[in-house]
Amino acid sequence: MKVAVFSTKAYDRQFLEAANYPKKHELVFFEPRLSQDTAILTAGFPAVCVFVHDQVDAPTLEILAARGTRLIALRCAGFNNVDLKAAAKLGIKVVRVPAYSPYGVAEHTAGLILSLNRKIHRAYNRVREGNFSLEGLLGFNLNERTVGIIGTGKIGLILGKIMRGFGCHLLAYDMYENSELEVLGGKYVELPELFANSDIISLHCPLTPETHHLINAEAIAQMKSGVMLINTSRGALINTQAVTEGLKTGKIGSLGVDVYEQESELFFEDLSDEIIQDDVFQRLTTFPNVLITGHQAFFTEEALRNIADTTLANITDVEQGRTCANELHTPPEIENKVLVS
Ligand code: NAD
Repeated sequence: MKVAVFSTKAYDRQFLEAANYPKKHELVFFEPRLSQDTAILTAGFPAVCVFVHDQVDAPTLEILAARGTRLIALRCAGFNNVDLKAAAKLGIKVVRVPAYSPYGVAEHTAGLILSLNRKIHRAYNRVREGNFSLEGLLGFNLNERTVGIIGTGKIGLILGKIMRGFGCHLLAYDMYENSELEVLGGKYVELPELFANSDIISLHCPLTPETHHLINAEAIAQMKSGVMLINTSRGALINTQAVTEGLKTGKIGSLGVDVYEQESELFFEDLSDEIIQDDVFQRLTTFPNVLITGHQAFFTEEALRNIADTTLANITDVEQGRTCANELHTPPEIENKVLVS
């Protein structure tokens, strides 16, 4: 099938071309994001492949449909950027990659915890400048500390296993209890108990109307003084202004994030020559006890291979008229109120 691939980076092209070798789809790569302005590029493409920051809203879908597009292939799990109802109305199928790197994300989360605790991000810069002072680099043993995991699906469970390896105690909160976490010795509790007793809190639930700004001033007030807060899930789980206040008072001892509520304006691009206009984000970068990565937790070779293989297999399924297990159907997903999974 002829596929217009939007938001292409060199690594997308490398992995998609390698995976496409036996499949023989005709892939055409475009660097810009898909939007109403760039949708004109899709004339003659029955399939369009997009990523997390492409805009697949109703007006864009109408332009696509008028130019013959019948399939949107998401190379990610989240689909909050796609108007599924509009797609269904226009007869456009939408497929996605539901899971591709739970180990990659959990391992990156552990990396943030270790770096923040032992101040490795600061030590790296100091040593390069000939500063071998240990002042300000004091950490704590992870052994016997308590890690609170919110959302114990694929990634949360793997993080639990990793942290048990360090001798941590596990507290967890999820609407659906995972017996595997209890086998590890973890204990399910309500959120106030998790907030009050965790030395480290890590977020692994999806962004939904219920979890939007789950970490706000009220939640922070219930936490231990000096708590380490980690978010590798979705930016809007955290109210950034409230967390900034918590960092200023010392209530939050350290913050590690791979995601940010307004990240679509920043992440995945080299903006090093530009003036960043987002003052909330810029304030975060000034704290010595804040470590930010730009949505790279998923970014492993295994994940890119899985994303490419599944995306192309999804396209082949639709091309050959087979049922695609990864197709998004409007009513259940919308009723489930999942904004990002
Ligand atoms: P998953 O579906 O396997 O697990 C999510 C868990 O969250 C489930 O157990 C679910 O019951 C639970 N949950 C749902 N609503 C909840 C609520 N209100 N409170 C508490 N728990 C709730 O998903 P996963 O594969 O483990 O991914 C977790 C999240 O990681 C995703 O939602 C996504 O936002 C994020 N993610 C980030 C990256 C990255 O690169 N940073 C990559 C992939 C996924």
